[in-house]
Amino acid sequence: LVIVHDAIGVNMIDTYVRKGLYPVDLPSGLGGEAAGIITAVGGDVAALEPGMRVAYVTPPPFDAYSEARVVDARWVVPLPAELDSATAAAVLLKGLTSWFLLHRSYRVAVGDWLLIYAAAGGVGSLLVQWAVQLGARVIGVVGSESKREIAAAHGCHHVLLASDDVVGRVRALTDGAGVAAVYDSVGRDTFMASLDCLAPHGVMVSYGNASGPVEPVAPLELMRRGSLFLTRPSLYDFINDRGLLETGARELFAMVLAGTLRVDINQRFALKDAADAHRALESRQTTGATVLEP
Ligand code: NDP
Repeated sequence: LVIVHDAIGVNMIDTYVRKGLYPVDLPSGLGGEAAGIITAVGGDVAALEPGMRVAYVTPPPFDAYSEARVVDARWVVPLPAELDSATAAAVLLKGLTSWFLLHRSYRVAVGDWLLIYAAAGGVGSLLVQWAVQLGARVIGVVGSESKREIAAAHGCHHVLLASDDVVGRVRALTDGAGVAAVYDSVGRDTFMASLDCLAPHGVMVSYGNASGPVEPVAPLELMRRGSLFLTRPSLYDFINDRGLLETGARELFAMVLAGTLRVDINQRFALKDAADAHRALESRQTTGATVLEP
């Protein structure tokens, strides 16, 4: 399919690709999600036609930071008429990530205590809102005072600063029990503290590297803290099946259209200023989602 882009989603992953943390074949573009209009269809592509408004998330090769590109139809989903392209580009990758984290990496149950890092960020904002709707009690962690209110507005029951004694505060808030799962996107700086926040049999979902990749860890560390589970998931392993992608997207779009999942596009940059978008994301200046406008 040829898709002419209306809006392009910016994700922390794009910075990992740019820096070489996630190696790709060079030369390469950047960017793994966008929304726009199909202008040409090649080969045997059912259900997608020129003129349709669509969005996509792709694994490598990355090339979404562009005015138009060719995309394999397997990653493309049609957009409901009521969903504008900027919102779709802001929410597809981050929302599908929230969906698999809450339903697959750990299945959240009513009353669970959860610890969620970067709770005012792109994925974090959606993850918190969705977790609260599933009946979880959420402790959010943010990097600055100004992000506290944002995380609280998303529904966090408690918001901690990254500079707080996170382990001590989490133990106190959970009457010593610890949390059922930690969603840790910060990586290197927070990994061991996250393990210390878990209740016995708790699930450590290490899903990002905002502060750098996590160092190797001995399985005995999981035993010592109460037979913990550790998972290090990637979105692409949860959407490479067409049925799963469609289920996740349907559920996500329904929540966005019903207003139960609020999508805040707090930064917009022209496509030519993509470097500024990366600088803002990497220096922890952004909240919610960031999009590029071609
Ligand atoms: P965010 O909008 O959440 O931005 C990253 C945030 O991480 C910052 O705002 C900051 O929040 C926090 N952070 C903590 N330490 C650092 C640091 N040293 N440098 C930079 N940021 C730091 O980004 P995204 O929503 O795009 O992504 C969130 C996370 O989710 C990323 O780690 C990403 O890799 C991961 N992800 C993983 C996927 C997967 O399939 N496994 C899929 C999609 C995203 P604060 O200041 O509040 O601490």
